[in-house]
Amino acid sequence: MLANLNLFELAQEEGIIVDWFPFRPPLLGYYWCTDSGQAVIGLCEEIQNDKKATRSILAEELGHHYTSAGKFTTQHHYRYRNRLSVSRCEEKALRWAVETLIPHDELQEAYSRGITNPWDLADYFDVLEETIHFRLKIAQLKGELKRLIKYICDECEKEVEDLDFPESWVTMIDKTAYSLEEKHFCSWSCLSDYRQRENALLKKKVI
Ligand SMILES: [Zn+2]
Repeated sequence: MLANLNLFELAQEEGIIVDWFPFRPPLLGYYWCTDSGQAVIGLCEEIQNDKKATRSILAEELGHHYTSAGKFTTQHHYRYRNRLSVSRCEEKALRWAVETLIPHDELQEAYSRGITNPWDLADYFDVLEETIHFRLKIAQLKGELKRLIKYICDECEKEVEDLDFPESWVTMIDKTAYSLEEKHFCSWSCLSDYRQRENALLKKKVI
């Protein structure tokens, strides 16, 4: 899958020099095009052992290369941690990055496997959570998310792929030690069957 895309190889093929630099945080990445047209990407040494950050930042810097005039203009782009706003050219670069790291069909695949919350998606795609948030924002703007929504009854596994959540369905919030899980049931009787089954399982565990 594209999530395994080797961004370093991609940069090499494009003739971009990628190197680690002792940047002072919060500076994480840097894209620069020299007067002679040599594109350079600098990455902060601090994120070298953080695969998620490396992939996310490098993709973003590559995005600058692909979405700007690149070779023919001298350009500087700095990527800081906890940035407050995204400029237009950053937006374009970021868009390239997130759609390359997380293509629509793979996002859909993740959703159909029940991987839907940002932190799980970040693990699945090996990117920063903020990268996921931006990808989901784009998906929302493009109306992709609507198509991705799929409700499956946790008891009988009946599926609904409506744009609107069917009113007849029952939602239950299951609180565990680590998360809040939303469970969907096509009817109250399915919910009650589910609870009975869970209680039976719980009793077995206790014994
Ligand atoms: Zn059901």
